[in-house]
Parts: sequence; structure tokens; C-alpha cells
Amino acid sequence: MSIDITHIRKEFPILHQEVNGYPLVYLDSAATTQKPQIVINAIEHYYKFLNANIHRGAHYLANLSTVKYEDSREKVRAFLNAEKSEEIIFTSGTTDGINLVAQTWGRQNIQAGDEIVLSMLEHHSNIVPWQMLAEEKGAVIRVIPIHESGEWDLTQIDTIISAKTKMVAVNHVSNALGTINQIDLVIARADAIGAKVLIDGAQSVAHFPVDVQSLNCDFYVFSAHKIYGATGTGVLYGKSQLLEAMPPWRGGGEMIKSVSFEKTTYNELPFKFEAGTPNIEGVIALGEAIDFVSRLDWNNMQAHDMTLLNAATSELMMIDGLRIFGTAANKVGVLSFLVDGIHPYDVGTLLDKQGVAVRTGHHCTEPLWNHFGVSGSVRASFGVYTTLDDIDRFVNALKKSIQLLR
Ligand code: PMP
Repeated sequence: MSIDITHIRKEFPILHQEVNGYPLVYLDSAATTQKPQIVINAIEHYYKFLNANIHRGAHYLANLSTVKYEDSREKVRAFLNAEKSEEIIFTSGTTDGINLVAQTWGRQNIQAGDEIVLSMLEHHSNIVPWQMLAEEKGAVIRVIPIHESGEWDLTQIDTIISAKTKMVAVNHVSNALGTINQIDLVIARADAIGAKVLIDGAQSVAHFPVDVQSLNCDFYVFSAHKIYGATGTGVLYGKSQLLEAMPPWRGGGEMIKSVSFEKTTYNELPFKFEAGTPNIEGVIALGEAIDFVSRLDWNNMQAHDMTLLNAATSELMMIDGLRIFGTAANKVGVLSFLVDGIHPYDVGTLLDKQGVAVRTGHHCTEPLWNHFGVSGSVRASFGVYTTLDDIDRFVNALKKSIQLLR
């Protein structure tokens, strides 16, 4: 059974508009995905019929919004196959989740001389929080290198992840290159020496199913807006025994059991890490987004992603002077490239003039581009609504842009 894109596209109102006189071709889903009508409806419905602060009101609306909010937690639990719903902490996004772990687990467990292992493919949000921690504690950052193809080079992994390693924080899928990383090998190595593992799943959850129990990672983080949900909402999964032992991060309402000026006691999981009024509508909309992707067949979605990626890759490979970055066999629908002698920003601007939205620059992965000796790339990235027609229009617009710029 193939995926019915025409039907899917109908659910995304934003796609049916013209940009600069052309029908929009949206190829920036790795930055943020567009939202289906059910997610938009959930936000509208929340403010029209449910709006009330959660967990503390005795009234009808407070109960209703609390139930919907907690329903979403259960949906996320099932989506990640976590063992318990209290292992699901709502955050404001991937960045927030990584900072939470660095500032709580990290400050409690990392000492001078300890090592934190990252990879050359990391997003700045999975580098900077660990650097801040390393600086404070006198810890050392080590980096898993990559091959020319954009895949991890794991030949030295037993030296890089050593008895000194306390944390391995790596992404599941590279946002810059699309590589699906061999996290199972890294998790197994970390597990063997007793290091903890945080997986940045910002780019994976929209492309294939994730099972945190079978992965056996300690923490897994993602953002709702990259899986057809709203901005300002995210998820931190953590094994309950680790979350229990971690100190709280932000202090405030909701995360406490009792407060006096002499002593405050903290709430149980997951509330210990959810201080203040959360993004209630965002969490409820995330539940709808998960329902949306769960109704699509994962095998079909992956096959569709591959069809688009293969079609775009073979077209781009025929363009004179075009270099593709990230040629791993195992990739999601992300295509990063440069054209000889042409600045990526100029390519992006001319594509935009023809209605094609791509991203240009370093994609928050500066160390990666420094490694390649360039300042960044043009990146086209796909979603469930991307069609072969989008790819054709992108390729034609790209050829035209190159002609004009050469
Ligand atoms: N990690 C990766 C791999 C990403 O792609 C992104 C978003 N580009 C982030 C982290 C940060 O996500 P957010 O800005 O939603 O916190």
C-alpha cells in the first residue's frame, strides 16, 4: 500500500498558497514541520472550550484540561514505548530537555577529569549545554569523528568511550546531513562501562518509530514542532530511577510538595521537573500530532521518504559542480549540498523567488562544517506532505538559479 499524499496534503492548510507567484514548495521540514488541521483545531478547541490551569483547580474546566494534558503524556509514553508515564517530562523543546539533564544529572554526577562524549554531527543544543557543564566542573569533551560520508567513524570507539566517560550525548539522526546514526553500538559500549546515554531525537521521531526500552538509552529528547506539533513544547524521557535521583532544576509552583521558608519538599515524578504553568495547549496538540503520525503507516512513510531522497539525489548528482554532503546509505529525507563558486544564501534566495523554501547556512552545526572546510550548505528536507512534484519543481528551480548565478 502506498502513502496517499494528496489526501495528506489536504490536511495541511499552509501548503495551499502561493509564494512569490509560485505554488509553495516547502522543503524545510527539518527546521520545523507544517501543522495538520487536527493540530491547529486542537489549539483552537483548547482556547474555546478547555482553557484552565491544570492540576490545581477544583472546577470543571480545570479537570478537563488536566485530563487532556495527562492523556498526552500517556500518548507520548506509548509512542516511545516508555515503561511508565512518569518517565515522560514535558519541556519547551529538545534544547530545554538537554539543558535539564546537563544542569541536574550533570551537575550532580560530573566531576573534574570526567569525560563527556559527543559526536561531530551534533546540533549546537547538544554541544553548548555540555560545554557549559564541562567548564564549570573541569570535565573534558571528547568527540566521535565522522567519515567523509557523514557516518560516525567508530573504529576508535573503545578509546573514546572509556572508563573516564560519564555521559554520551549524541543525536539519533543528523539534522545537517540526514545520517541515521548507529546509536545501538554507542549505547552498548556506554552501557558496558557504566556511562549514561542521552539521545537527541529531534530529527528521528518524525521519520521512524522509536522504542526507548529496546534502545536501552537513559534519556531521549525531542521537540513537538518537528513532528507536526506546535512550537514551545518538547519531551524528555528518562529512566525513572535516574529521574528520581536527580535534583530538580527550575523551582516554582507545581514542582513542590510543600513550601515553608525553612524547608521545601519536592513533588514526585514527573511534576518535579515541570515547574510553573506549562505550555498546556502545546502538550495537548502534541497528543493530536502523535495520533496523526500514528495513523500513517511507518513503513509507507519511510518508503516515501526514500523515494523522494533517491529521486532528488540522482537529479542533483547530475548537476555540474554540485557536491552533496552526507552520502550515508542510512539516511532520512535531508539533502545538504553546495554548488561550486556559489554562496548557499544566493541559492536559497533565488529558490525562494521561485516559491521553494530551503534552509541555508550552518544549520546550528558549525563544528561539522568546519570539519568539511566550508561555512555551511543549502539543505532541502522533506515531510510526509512532500511530493515527487515538489522535488521536480525544486530541481528545475535550482537549475535555473545556478544558470543565473554562474
Ligand atoms: N537537535 C537537533 C538534531 C535539531 O535538529 C534541533 C533543531 N534544529 C535541535 C536539537 C534543537 O531543537 P529545538 O530548537 O526545537 O529545541
